Amino acid sequence: MASEVCQHIDAVTDVKQAKARRCEECVKIGARWLHLRTCQSCGATLCCDSSPNRHATKHATSSGHPVVASAEPGERWLYCYPDDQMAEY
Ligand SMILES: [Zn+2]
Ligand SMILES: [Zn+2]
Ligand SMILES: [Zn+2]
Repeated sequence: MASEVCQHIDAVTDVKQAKARRCEECVKIGARWLHLRTCQSCGATLCCDSSPNRHATKHATSSGHPVVASAEPGERWLYCYPDDQMAEY
């Protein structure tokens, strides 16, 4: 990992990939999503800020899990919510 990023992203050594390509919370409520993010603390796959329900952001806020990875095909980056930092891997 690059040294320019925050400690949260720095602590991610093995990037968790999405187990299933769907937002776990949207599925429960029958909602739609746009893009998917995978929490690097617990592995939950949730929807991005462009989705109506913004489950990944809600999860980061409520659980304190700081870092998500993009779960979109071909995208290889991590994002830290508390530090607003993004890093490719
Ligand atoms: Zn951070
Ligand atoms: Zn969602
Ligand atoms: Zn989590």
